[in-house]
Amino acid sequence: MIYQRSSALFVEAQKVIPGGVNSPVRAFKSVGGTPIYAKKAEGAYIYDEDGNKLVDYINSWGPMILGHAHKPVVDAVIDKTKSGTSFGMPTEIETDIAKLAVSMVPNVDKIRFVNSGTEACMSAVRLARGFTGKDKIIKFAGCYHGHSDSFLIQAGSGAITFGEPNSPGVTEGTAKDTLLATYNDLDNVAKTIAANQGEIACIILEPVAGNMGCIPPADGFLEGLRKLCDDNDILLIFDEVMTGFRLAPGGAQELFGIDADIVTFGKVIGGGLPVGAFAARTEIMDYLAPIGPVYQAGTLSGNPLAMAAGLAMLKELDANRNIFNSINEKTAYLHKGLAEALTSENVEHTINRLGSMISIHFSETPVTNFDSAAAASNGNFKKFFHGMLNEGIYIAPSAFETWFISDALTYEDLDFTIEACRKVAKSLL
Ligand code: PMP
Repeated sequence: MIYQRSSALFVEAQKVIPGGVNSPVRAFKSVGGTPIYAKKAEGAYIYDEDGNKLVDYINSWGPMILGHAHKPVVDAVIDKTKSGTSFGMPTEIETDIAKLAVSMVPNVDKIRFVNSGTEACMSAVRLARGFTGKDKIIKFAGCYHGHSDSFLIQAGSGAITFGEPNSPGVTEGTAKDTLLATYNDLDNVAKTIAANQGEIACIILEPVAGNMGCIPPADGFLEGLRKLCDDNDILLIFDEVMTGFRLAPGGAQELFGIDADIVTFGKVIGGGLPVGAFAARTEIMDYLAPIGPVYQAGTLSGNPLAMAAGLAMLKELDANRNIFNSINEKTAYLHKGLAEALTSENVEHTINRLGSMISIHFSETPVTNFDSAAAASNGNFKKFFHGMLNEGIYIAPSAFETWFISDALTYEDLDFTIEACRKVAKSLL
């Protein structure tokens, strides 16, 4: 495939935008090469600035469950735009989407809309701290909750007692309140809690991790966390920015039958427009301003266009629950085909999948946490990424990301992808 125009656009972008991109993963830094400039997208396909057609497995990092430019969503936005794009005043549609979201998600009574997943998680943590009167939080290495300071933390020398900033600009003071734990390791979490008795406000996690490739929770992990939280007066926050309205209508809480205390959402809930949200039972949510003491705000929060797109999206997911089976079945089919293709070429790999989230790690050993994900072969991933791209398949440009399956993908698209994988596998070690 030719990427002349994308390359030229990237050169221009770098003159005025740091690294040429508005979010780092788009720069292809971990796989090398030139990022591809999207011109338009429809259904399962992206059409780039060079005229290439790509089968899309990123789907704007999750929200396009129904495919790109889905007509009801596009129509809802166009229609809403004609009546004004923002008022900074309450609008009826905010209550409409709130009612629908709360009816779909278990164990929540109220929801507040924000503009990104970062804002949702940052606000959820502030709420948990305000509600419990405690300062420290536990997060898991490899889980991503956006770029708010409290989350940009890596394991320090005394990982069980405190973390360290992993970006300049995050202060030591902030870092000391974020404790790093190991995903799928309950003992490690229990020890972290024991070493910080009475100081931990919340545990935040991706109930199915999507930011170290796809890593499902081990049997009993989520149940164990729930119990540790109950025993120690800690709030459990499920970051469902990826899993919400995707794994099930009620997200991971519904799928696993585990209640979280606060749930955060992003992406899907805006149908592709910039939206996030956090939700909990009334007792917790009423701790928020203007009725409670915890401050949280946003000029464009609940923006009518985003609400219209999100409402159209959620209405369809709510009315047609077969969509969830359909994307799961398509992903299972893809999983089987990719595994057979890689195995037939003797390529060491582990494919993790849960529902419509799937990823390949080039490692023969199970990938269950950040360390095992990091131990996989990045060399093979790079070759695989570029090989697939050359065949017209667009997967995430990093081994630490997940593929998101949309219902717009046909079985022909999946067969085409599996065939591409078979060809590319021959070039791998
Ligand atoms: N949480 C999770 C699980 C995410 O995957 C992301 C984004 N990839 C975020 C939070 C942050 O969302 P945003 O990029 O919209 O700020």
